[in-house]
Amino acid sequence: MHHMTLAEIARGLADKKFSSEELTQVLLARIAQLDPQLNSFISLTQELALSQAKAADARRANGETGALLGAPIAHKDLFCTQGIRTSCGSKMLDNFKAPYDATVVAKLAAAGTVTLGKTNMDEFAMGSANESSYYGAVKNPWNLEHVPGGSSGGSAAAVAARLLPAATATDTGGSIRQPAAFTNLTGLKPTYGRVSRWGMIAYASSLDQGGPLARTAEDCAILLQGMAGFDPNDSTSIDEPVPDYSASLNGSMQGLRIGVPKEYFSAGLDPRIAERVHNSVKELEKLGAVIKEISLPNMQHAIPAYYVIAPAEASSNLSRFDGVRFGYRCENPESLIDLYKRSRGEGFGAEVQRRIMVGAYALSAGYYDAYYLKAQKIRRLVKNDFMAAFNEVDIILGPTTPNPAWKLGAKNSDPVAEYLEDVYTITANLAGLPGLSMPAGFVDGLPVGVQLLAPYFQEGRLLNVAHQYQLHTDWHTRTPTGF
Ligand code: GLN
Repeated sequence: MHHMTLAEIARGLADKKFSSEELTQVLLARIAQLDPQLNSFISLTQELALSQAKAADARRANGETGALLGAPIAHKDLFCTQGIRTSCGSKMLDNFKAPYDATVVAKLAAAGTVTLGKTNMDEFAMGSANESSYYGAVKNPWNLEHVPGGSSGGSAAAVAARLLPAATATDTGGSIRQPAAFTNLTGLKPTYGRVSRWGMIAYASSLDQGGPLARTAEDCAILLQGMAGFDPNDSTSIDEPVPDYSASLNGSMQGLRIGVPKEYFSAGLDPRIAERVHNSVKELEKLGAVIKEISLPNMQHAIPAYYVIAPAEASSNLSRFDGVRFGYRCENPESLIDLYKRSRGEGFGAEVQRRIMVGAYALSAGYYDAYYLKAQKIRRLVKNDFMAAFNEVDIILGPTTPNPAWKLGAKNSDPVAEYLEDVYTITANLAGLPGLSMPAGFVDGLPVGVQLLAPYFQEGRLLNVAHQYQLHTDWHTRTPTGF
């Protein structure tokens, strides 16, 4: 039962082969049995899950239908869930029970999903390895000595290990696509503004975007359908109609223009990943796509720009955690300043503190022009590169990551080495474009992802290409041994 995709679950429920309650019981037992190896959950919500499952079964019995009605999922632990701990992977929020549901959580609950729990993540979504969580590192089910990617590593590990069919995640600089690549999943970061950020604890507000992590493009279409849409509570949410994503899956690849940026194949890319990427290009060519070499000349500046902008926004967003209104408070503060200092010093981990310091520095008078403003100018250049490229091609294809998942601890002493691993993903966030990672092979038993990027609001096109690829390949069906 645990091998079923969301699409298969929807058919099984519609055909009355099993109930949502039965499926929920099976998955909860599987999580209890297998998750201790992975550490992919921060909180389990068994009671909520069973009551939601029963309610979904009752709605179906009353004649209601819907692809998500009775579908078990989990939420990354930065989506606020009313009355349930929403920790953001941090000691700072270990005691925080959200007073309301994030829009994404409320929309999915209304569609009938069953919440099994809240998944582990890098603290405040900062990281590419899921090693910075207050609740401990998450392990990659493909090799328990390796990282699952971050920051949505808990969602990714749980879905890859078949503990559940799909989960929500967020992507500020790659945190949906990179863990998808590292764990053999399909993950979609939507266009900025497509999915509401209301109730999503902010890391870098101009880059953050929620999206689905699942095993197939078909399932990403189903989950995105439940997440996307205008929300008046989010001032950057865009009032554009949401297309039927499942209906977009079957478009022909004939004549589709795929751009492959020459800058992607630089010295930093593992040649074995380059080969898997070229194989995926050949596969799509066989289906009728036309391949074109393109250039993204400002890509080399993206990492330094991102690692100024994201910490700058983080330093501002995280100033609200001051030990006064909610979250962690130090013992016996001697003064207000002592309360601030020690609550933040004790409540935030090392990576979060590093980012706050870098961000505050980049925003400070005298350095603002030299760092923050300059980074914003680079951001525009990166966007302009994409706009020029999309005049010539329909989709951009390349590797999701320069290397496969590294060993736990391998980059702990060198944060910049970890930042460099985001080279292919962060440009889409800087430009606000949608991007998808799909399984495309293995290197030393570890999964490799191929990334597709499309123009604004062309999530359907990304899902279409990935689905057609998945109809002709079986990488996405491979299961990690032991799960
Ligand atoms: N690795 C990037 C960072 O640490 C991206 C994280 C994310 O997308 N949340 O900022």
